[in-house]
Amino acid sequence: MSGTLIWYVAICRRQAWLMGHAIEPYREHELLALGRLLQETAYPRQRKELSLPGMKVDLITPRDGDALLIGEVKRSPRMQHAQRLQLGYYLLRLREAGVTARGELRYPEQRVVEPVELTPELEAAVRAAVREVEGLLGEPVPPAARRIPACANCAYYEFCWIEEEPGSGASPVRETRGGVRRRPRASAEEGL
Ligand code: SF4
Repeated sequence: MSGTLIWYVAICRRQAWLMGHAIEPYREHELLALGRLLQETAYPRQRKELSLPGMKVDLITPRDGDALLIGEVKRSPRMQHAQRLQLGYYLLRLREAGVTARGELRYPEQRVVEPVELTPELEAAVRAAVREVEGLLGEPVPPAARRIPACANCAYYEFCWIEEEPGSGASPVRETRGGVRRRPRASAEEGL
């Protein structure tokens, strides 16, 4: 389990399954590269990255009052429901480890900061997402690909949809439940 999987499952269950089975997306995808650059360069004076199993927090600031402040740096609030779940998962993990923390979603390009607290509602949503990921990863094949707005910027786009592009020579199948099977040579090593 990881915060990243919580984020993915809130956007696309297929994406979460692929990531959870180590079928990694194309790492040089433009938006992934931009996201990494932002995380590496934003807020340079603040202590960076807390890495624990299943969680990698972008920013940590010294205790603010009596609570540790952790932050996630994002390019835009467009997927804020997923971002809140991811940060809520980290807050829950820290609380279970005896650490009181509060969170912030940071959007340096928009100069916006969104506070996130682990309310009972957010905790319930996080626990539901954890259960969903656990169930999903036990499934032998990924959920079918379904067109959603997030597909346009998804690093798995080619994996899910390239056979449907004009001129690809493939039949116009809309749902590719056998997507992995239909591209048997696809693997993380091949730079998906
Ligand atoms: S391209 Fe679309 S269906 Fe495929 S993993 Fe990404 S969001 Fe999900």
